[in-house]
Amino acid sequence: MAKYTPMIQQYLSIKAEYPDAFLFFRLGDFYEMFFDDAKRAAEELELTLTGRDGGKERIPMCGVPYHAAEAYIGRLIEKGYKAAICEQVEDPASAKGVVRREVVRVVTPGTVMEEKILAEKENNFLTAVTRREQHFALAAADLSTGEFYVTELAGASDAVIDELASFSPKEVLLAPCLGEESVFQNELRSRLGALITVLREDRLPSSATMERELAAQFPGFEEACSSPFTLEAAGLLHTYLRETQKRALAHMNRLERYDAGQFMVLDTAARHNLELTTTLREGRRKGSLLWLLDRTATAMGSRLLKKWLDKPLLDKKAIESRQGAVQALVEDLILLEEIRDRLRHVYDLERLCARVAYGSANGRDLLALRRSLEAIPALKERLIETGSSYLARLAEAMDPCADVGELIAESVVDEPPVSVKEGGVIREGYDEELDKLRSVQQDGRGWITRLEQRERETTGIRSLKVGFNKVFGYYIEVTRANLKLLPEGRYQRKQTLANAERFVTPELKERERLILESEEKSVDLEYRLFTGIREQIAGEIARIQELADQVAQLDALQSFASVSNQHRYVKPEIRTDDILHIEGGRHPVVEAAIGEQDFVANDVRMDHRERQVLLITGPNMAGKSTYMRQAALITLMAQIGCFVPVKEASIGIVDRIFTRIGAADDLVGGRSTFMVEMDETRQALAQATSKSLILLDEVGRGTSTYDGMALAQAIVEYLHNHVGAKTLFSTHYHELTALADDLPRVVNVNVRCVEKKGEVVFLHRVEEGGADQSYGIHVAQLAGMPGSVIRRARVILDALESRMETGDSRQLDLFQYARESAATVEEPLSEKEREALASLQDWDLMNRTPMETIQFLHDLQ
Ligand code: ADP
Repeated sequence: MAKYTPMIQQYLSIKAEYPDAFLFFRLGDFYEMFFDDAKRAAEELELTLTGRDGGKERIPMCGVPYHAAEAYIGRLIEKGYKAAICEQVEDPASAKGVVRREVVRVVTPGTVMEEKILAEKENNFLTAVTRREQHFALAAADLSTGEFYVTELAGASDAVIDELASFSPKEVLLAPCLGEESVFQNELRSRLGALITVLREDRLPSSATMERELAAQFPGFEEACSSPFTLEAAGLLHTYLRETQKRALAHMNRLERYDAGQFMVLDTAARHNLELTTTLREGRRKGSLLWLLDRTATAMGSRLLKKWLDKPLLDKKAIESRQGAVQALVEDLILLEEIRDRLRHVYDLERLCARVAYGSANGRDLLALRRSLEAIPALKERLIETGSSYLARLAEAMDPCADVGELIAESVVDEPPVSVKEGGVIREGYDEELDKLRSVQQDGRGWITRLEQRERETTGIRSLKVGFNKVFGYYIEVTRANLKLLPEGRYQRKQTLANAERFVTPELKERERLILESEEKSVDLEYRLFTGIREQIAGEIARIQELADQVAQLDALQSFASVSNQHRYVKPEIRTDDILHIEGGRHPVVEAAIGEQDFVANDVRMDHRERQVLLITGPNMAGKSTYMRQAALITLMAQIGCFVPVKEASIGIVDRIFTRIGAADDLVGGRSTFMVEMDETRQALAQATSKSLILLDEVGRGTSTYDGMALAQAIVEYLHNHVGAKTLFSTHYHELTALADDLPRVVNVNVRCVEKKGEVVFLHRVEEGGADQSYGIHVAQLAGMPGSVIRRARVILDALESRMETGDSRQLDLFQYARESAATVEEPLSEKEREALASLQDWDLMNRTPMETIQFLHDLQ
């Protein structure tokens, strides 16, 4: 039987090791793909599928030139694939048989290092998860910055997905024990949109090996990985990084353990609904809170700001420390401007370090590093003068790494080329041997200029010139018309052009040999010198990273100060009790969009004794949801240490913000709006503590009026009686306002509208008390509903209202029932009503599914 050619056999054995990646197989100047890889790559990358005789059969093949590979690999990564890069690892000229080839790196969405693929202002996280019973351990790393975190979580898979989501990972690795959990995997896929890889037990090293490797990578890792469980998550992640990158990763030297309980919890729904980093409708950064607050001057500052936003603080002292820094900067605007200016000269130190350690930094990267380090001393000096102890501490600690800057200044030229392999990178005077080689070249070139002069004189041909090209080297060119002037015999013909002939002489060839030889030698030497410098800097990476971290903090703080200054934000008082007092609060993003003068500021007054639940009524479009969101955003901004859009505020620290806002149909998950609504509300009821802040917007709207009102009321009662969390509850069932009479900590507020000449005018002003009217029809009119529909609706409304007054409708009964059920029922009820009431009160909302509840309500009706 025919066999595959030796090269294809080699291909197949390597491919077997990387079944889930496209194998880029180096063949001369191309990377080729074969078999199924070729067919799929041809489709995904729009390449021409060709074929190659493989011995046994003709094999599908397609390829890309090696110098263009990065772009193609980038496209595959963006589509969520992996690519294994297989190089020739011996010189084909000296190889016996098939050239030896090895995979030198696997590029995956979570391990990208290429600047062109990475988003400057975003981290690129790779995460790993493992589980023991109801405990999860999670590790997250960004190869492009060197960060590495671990944490442990107890509880349902929801919590771990929320925690994962806060990293926006590009790739998630699952421990073998999660391999069978298809529900969990589907949930991950739909909520994170990341590439998911289940690690195979038989491909993993023993836990003792993983521990040894971790210890070698992270000095003092035992502290962070105190349990075997976190060790496993960190070990899986680290193993994957080692196996895909196949090189030392000196920039990954700190393993940080964090406790999710240190920070405010924000689940995916809350992040989403509050539009923290992307907008609800378009999913863009523009229009989000992050977009508003991000005035950073460096990429690392921008990434840190996002992390702060994702993890608001719970510790009063820590918050006040940030506030102090912001205050010092707001109070000295000249200083603020100067700091911003200086920060603009600092490049992305984190990613520069990563490239240095990774071995991909070029001369321009080192120059950027030098310029960044040079900007530090002045920055440091300016900061020490401020009144903030936080800023002073930052400044004290900053190490400008002058030795590194000097090393680069004396070794690398001021305008280095992109390539590090073609010379021109190393400065004169840095290396004696290089200088010598260069002077040989210079002499040679001088000799050639003189030769040209001499030849012109001896031949009398004034247009004679000496040129150089890559194929023929140096030559003497004479135009056709002048050929007759050349003496016989001395010149050797090399090339004929349309109008000229090119010649060489033995002495020219000899000189050429000397020049080219020393050129080749100096290019080699430069490369060796450059990598030496790079390695020397790699030894100092921990220091530069420390500096990067300090610069990022400074940048994030000045960003807070800049926005606070521009929008006239105020420092809130941070409290550890349950008060939320806002005077003249504004929604930061809406205000930025419509202008401060057009935004109607509103107060919020909440506490646990008298004003735990605010029931907000008012017609659609009045501003209810804006009011709720602004309360949450102001709280959140306060807890990240930023100033807030208020006249004055006292803010009790909250441990978690829950939201149920808007109609976010979970189309991917296949759940109806109502189902999502109930699920989000259930989470709030089940997980909120008395320290939480809950926003519930129009809960119950997703079902019929009766169901909806009954549910809304039951939920308010539950929050009031059992949870104790500060709650903002908006509703257009103005009948619910009666609840305030019976529940002592429920307070009505309404968003005022006035009617002018039959039309609604929105004042956006929040006042105490319930709304007395529903303005639905007016709003419909504003929206341009046909006049006949509006008139007909008015007639029906009148009829309904008069029926309600005479008490002859079912609807009236229900409304009345809604009011009464909360209180001790004074009026006699029928037997049936009593039963219904009892079963409603007994209904265990927390432990029933929304469907069961709907069925129950239906039966009740
Ligand atoms: P609701 O939740 O009551 O339906 P929204 O909160 O969505 O109303 O607000 C409707 C519109 O009114 C928003 O688009 C916003 O631009 C505007 N708005 C809301 N509150 C204010 C305010 N305080 N000042 C100015 N405009 C506001």
